[in-house]
Amino acid sequence: MATAYIGRFAPSPTGPLHQGSLLAALASYLDAKHHGGTWLLRIEDLDPPREDPSAPETIIAQLKAFCLHWDGEPLFQSSRLAAYEEALATLARESLTYPCTCARKSYAAVYPGTCDGRYACPPNAPHSIRLRVRDAQLSWQDRLFGEVSFAMKQQVGDFIIRRKDGLTAYQLAVVVDDLEQQITQVVRGADLLDSTPRQLEVYAGLGRPAPGYLHLPVLADKSGAKLSKQSHAAPVGTSDAPAQLRYLLGLLGQPIPEAKEAPALLAVAAKQWDISRVPRQPSIVVA
Ligand code: GLU
Ligand code: ZN
Repeated sequence: MATAYIGRFAPSPTGPLHQGSLLAALASYLDAKHHGGTWLLRIEDLDPPREDPSAPETIIAQLKAFCLHWDGEPLFQSSRLAAYEEALATLARESLTYPCTCARKSYAAVYPGTCDGRYACPPNAPHSIRLRVRDAQLSWQDRLFGEVSFAMKQQVGDFIIRRKDGLTAYQLAVVVDDLEQQITQVVRGADLLDSTPRQLEVYAGLGRPAPGYLHLPVLADKSGAKLSKQSHAAPVGTSDAPAQLRYLLGLLGQPIPEAKEAPALLAVAAKQWDISRVPRQPSIVVA
């Protein structure tokens, strides 16, 4: 990689880390360290109603217990609202946005652009702001999945960058902050594969280059559902960190270091890190 590598882990503080979120943290850490890079932490506390106020502290303690040490200070999205407003204004100036008053249940999976051109001025009624996608095929070279491609109008549709309740949508905030933190490589779960074309569209709208992407298989339960707080995935305990790290390295197809302690184990794992061994599949059933 030509430029200096800067990676990140960006958990939403909806609860403690479970095995699936720890896997994403571990893989992004190892990928950064393997490339002699920097690894940053960003707490995506954008959606207070969905959050657990004690989660940031718990997540930070869990990462420390696994010796996954980040560089610099964590960035909290709650401190970044002015930057999101500015990005929204830039996109609006480029005439790439429009207000939308549609109810979520008024359309099927892909928003058909009903409100595009409908309002000469922002309506008084509560409305979201959407980014208009190009009528084009958009693709990127995912470092695990290879070429991934989406027909933007047909498969993605114009998407929300500011919610009706006034909160900034994840799709906008994540790009503004990946730019702020100068992230060069995004390593995260394959559940976000269909967010990536949206984020690429935000980069294009802002006239900024996008980072590289590596999407990892997510951990799923027997029913195929992603481990999540909603599916009541257990928080990862920190009593035997090395054993858990070995288990997760196994799931990632990596050789298991002999080292007994977490720091040495991570150092060896980072050196050996090889993404060609990571299972190229959207999910791994673990429970
Ligand atoms: N905050 C998002 C989540 O926890 C991840 C964002 C990202 O890695 O782009 O699912
Ligand atoms: Zn609408």
